[in-house]
Amino acid sequence: MGLLDDARKNPSVDALYIHIDAQTPIKFVESADEVSWSSTTMGGGTTITGAPTKHPDASLAHELLHAKLKINGYRQYGATTAMHHKYRAANIIAQMLDNELQHHRMYSEFLNIGFKAEQFYNDDDIKSYRKVRRELKAMGQTTAREEFLRAFVTVIAPGGAGTEDERIKLRNFLRARCGKNTWDILIGIENEIAGWVAQPSPDSGSVLVNIFRLLGGYDSTWIGWTADSFPANGIFVGQPFTLQQATTWLALHAH
Ligand SMILES: [Zn+2]
Repeated sequence: MGLLDDARKNPSVDALYIHIDAQTPIKFVESADEVSWSSTTMGGGTTITGAPTKHPDASLAHELLHAKLKINGYRQYGATTAMHHKYRAANIIAQMLDNELQHHRMYSEFLNIGFKAEQFYNDDDIKSYRKVRRELKAMGQTTAREEFLRAFVTVIAPGGAGTEDERIKLRNFLRARCGKNTWDILIGIENEIAGWVAQPSPDSGSVLVNIFRLLGGYDSTWIGWTADSFPANGIFVGQPFTLQQATTWLALHAH
């Protein structure tokens, strides 16, 4: 019996599967090489890749909830165009936040299906706090703020294998490492994410802009759905610019 059949034995997950499949026909790919599940919903279809796991129903539900968000209007701001030296960081952060914002928005529904917090991520998740702690040990007040944000999103991520006590310890450790200015910014970002969970709109554009503004140094950044939809399907952090200006800047500075 395959992973998908196994996962669909859970009646709630099966109902969700049928619901999503009716709107974006699902192609399921079983992979022994992957360590975690993943999915894409685009062009009217959803592709889910499944990997070996102890709880296939929870993993399938997680991917179906990603698909459901997108079907309900959530837009992935995965493309960036920028005219500043942090242009690579802008793209990495936009993609990271895309994933995290979806998780924050999906989490309560995941619990409502009847799953436990620790089933929200893959079986490997037990290592994630340990990994962040190790990384934080090598970081200090001269470390780029973006590195602390990367650690912070793991600390505030919904669900997961870590206990509440471990989460608080890691949070305090991060706070001690990053310094007051960065910590204040991270708290501002945490508030933005809390606002995002509470807001009815599925569009995360303004939340992303606010987060980039809080981080600082991201004026002259455009974040959008796809690179070729500049500037219509996206939003500027700071003053708008033309593609010509961005191309000229990158030709001079990017290497
Ligand atoms: Zn996910």
